[in-house]
Amino acid sequence: MFSDKKAFQESFKKRLEQSYSISFQDSTRAQQFVTLSNMVREHISSEWIETNERYRKGNKQVYYLSIEFLLGRLLGQNLINLGLYETLETWLADLNIPLDELEEIEPDAALGNGGLGRLAACFLDSLASLNLPGHGCGIRYKHGLFEQKMVDGFQMELPENWLRYGYVWEVRKSDLSVDVPFWGSVDVIERKEGTKFRHVDAEYVRAVPHDMPVVGYGGETINTLRLWSAEMSTMTPMHDVLKYKRETEAISEFLYPDDSNDEGKILRLKQQYFLVSASIRSILRRFLSNGGELKELHKHVAIHINDTHPVLAIPELMRLLLDEYQLSWDEAWHITERTFAYTNHTTLSEALERWPIRIFKPLLPRIFMIVEEINERFCKRLWEEYPGEWGRIEKMAIVANGEVRMAHLAIAGSHSINGVAWLHTEILKNREMNDFYQFQPEKFNNKTNGITHRRWLLKANPELTSLLTETIGDGFQKDAAELSKLAPYADDSAFLQKLWDVKTKRKEILAKRIFEQNGVKVDPSSIFDVQVKRLHAYKRQLLNVLHILALYNKVKADSSYQMAPRTFIFGAKASPGYFYAKRIIKLIHSVADLVNNDPATKGLITVVFMENYRVSLAEDIIPAADISEQISTASKEASGTGNMKFMMNGAITMGTLDGANVEILEQTGPDNIFIFGLKAEEVMSYDKEGGYRSMDYYHHDPLIRRTLDQLVDGTLDDKGLFGVIYDSLLGENDQYFVLKDFESYRKTQEEAGRIYAEDQARWRKMMVNNISGSGIFSSDRTIKEYAKEIWNI
Ligand SMILES: *Cc1c(COP(=O)(O)O)cnc(C)c1O
Repeated sequence: MFSDKKAFQESFKKRLEQSYSISFQDSTRAQQFVTLSNMVREHISSEWIETNERYRKGNKQVYYLSIEFLLGRLLGQNLINLGLYETLETWLADLNIPLDELEEIEPDAALGNGGLGRLAACFLDSLASLNLPGHGCGIRYKHGLFEQKMVDGFQMELPENWLRYGYVWEVRKSDLSVDVPFWGSVDVIERKEGTKFRHVDAEYVRAVPHDMPVVGYGGETINTLRLWSAEMSTMTPMHDVLKYKRETEAISEFLYPDDSNDEGKILRLKQQYFLVSASIRSILRRFLSNGGELKELHKHVAIHINDTHPVLAIPELMRLLLDEYQLSWDEAWHITERTFAYTNHTTLSEALERWPIRIFKPLLPRIFMIVEEINERFCKRLWEEYPGEWGRIEKMAIVANGEVRMAHLAIAGSHSINGVAWLHTEILKNREMNDFYQFQPEKFNNKTNGITHRRWLLKANPELTSLLTETIGDGFQKDAAELSKLAPYADDSAFLQKLWDVKTKRKEILAKRIFEQNGVKVDPSSIFDVQVKRLHAYKRQLLNVLHILALYNKVKADSSYQMAPRTFIFGAKASPGYFYAKRIIKLIHSVADLVNNDPATKGLITVVFMENYRVSLAEDIIPAADISEQISTASKEASGTGNMKFMMNGAITMGTLDGANVEILEQTGPDNIFIFGLKAEEVMSYDKEGGYRSMDYYHHDPLIRRTLDQLVDGTLDDKGLFGVIYDSLLGENDQYFVLKDFESYRKTQEEAGRIYAEDQARWRKMMVNNISGSGIFSSDRTIKEYAKEIWNI
């Protein structure tokens, strides 16, 4: 289909006309996009079939269970991975169709909130690109993450609708549907050979799989992402049909708009069980139909649990092995424990999932029984290890105080537990999960996160990709470790100039987009200082915006104050129910209004908030950044992956020693990164002692005092909007150490500005050292570690 230009063009036109009954001349970009994408999907179908055939012949398979997959757009990435991008770009150009305009038509598949969901998407890309047998299992939410619309500086949430025109990449497989039971009760049948259990009077929900191809680089391997959609089942008698329909379809209607703070909602628990029950049964079905022996399951199947949301997969596999396949408890547990591995993503205690028994037990009666049994046996083992230590055992129990603790269930039922960056894993082992680490140290390991360089470099930044290719060859495109070949060019002034030109080009492209979207003119020769990520108190967008306000005050107070012109760029969605985060978004807008419209700072400080942050917007912003803001309160960010994307695109990190920033520093060395603020140890010991006295910083630092006063004195608004922020810093003792880190941040920012303005050679060298050191953060490296050390594939 794509081997001959004439044939392609003919077939493309013909299909367009036949699908839409429209002449080629009159066809729209949307119709062209759909037609091209369908051709690509058909093109890969034989490789897809072949990949599945290959897997049937006994390879160990990995299933990555995740409640989120933040995929973004697929057309461009698939073409790059198939090696077809440039060819089709020219062939389409001949027909007066710009390929990038077709790409713009595709809606982002935003089935995730942020880092956790994006990690899952990067992992799928790496698995396929490394020709590894790894598949995703998730939910096909009808509406992905909400669309953010800014109205007068306030965030409005609109329902997202990625399926509006049908989705070109999925294949619906109704014949592989599975019925998932909820409610009902458990029948206990005493038999000679033992007690049997049966889940009766359940209400069923039909899980219908929609398969998406995951195209590996080079096009040899096409793995599968299976997303389940909830529909009415024919197994449930129809009493109140409308109610049943509504409740059923609700399960795959919306993605929960928060990845760190689940409210105790039955629907969320239903989503979790729906995902795992459908996935585990489809995994078993496939395994058995290929002639697998159940008792050998763990030798042929590895199931990975991305955070605690899919943890019910553990009791669900137990249920199937016990109730449907009649294995003994010990046999079933032996298999289960060796099949599962679990990744922890956070140490924030408010994000640790716990389900009240009063919700859990009626919804999932048989699963609850099994969880209780797992708990009992687990506690018995603890009792043998720590006789008499009631306190310790109660702390570690899976069911206690009227709740099911999902992280404890994950630890008990998995053979591997990993953190996502060195520091995070250390904190898990030595603090948050120390009891479990003492009990079973061999289970714990670290797998530092990564990003797929195919999206975040090859796709997002073709200009830089070309420059790198002409400089060090194209080996890095396949193997990101080859980026280290760039290191010697840190002193090559001709190369440095070209690198600078690429960065400038990308800043011009972004400046154009900012003007179109925000109506603000930004200067591409100013420093592009960027913070884009979910809005959360611990990520400290507040520190950034207070620094901008302070900088503004400094310039106003002292007209001789020298600074390199700066453009501060923000992008962030706040969870709809997270009032404080939304107020910070408003604050960013108010500061932007003040600063952008004051002649005293015009051209010197510009603040831009780009609405609706998402993968495709990130692909435009990140290549244009000079400074990457990674300023979370130390110890709070498990890894961060945004930090890696920026580094790979030649931005310099302004960061705390938190998450993977620690390892970024290790790669760049201290001269190529800006580190400031409290260390994790310091934060944790303050936390232990109940914080620090933030009021002292207000009293002793006139700049802080002046800046904080402006939150409440009418400078920014006359309705008292920001009192809540003022109070969080002074009244509530500044839980995230914003004021404590403020002066250190301000000074480090000043230093960065000085180097950019006065020592451009040094800055360019820093850029090179970041790019050349970023190869280790390719998710290919991460996935190779998972494959070897956890999955054994
Ligand atoms: C990478 C990415 C994230 C994660 O960013 P962090 O800075 O690590 O929090 C969130 N959202 C999108 C759209 C991303 O691409």
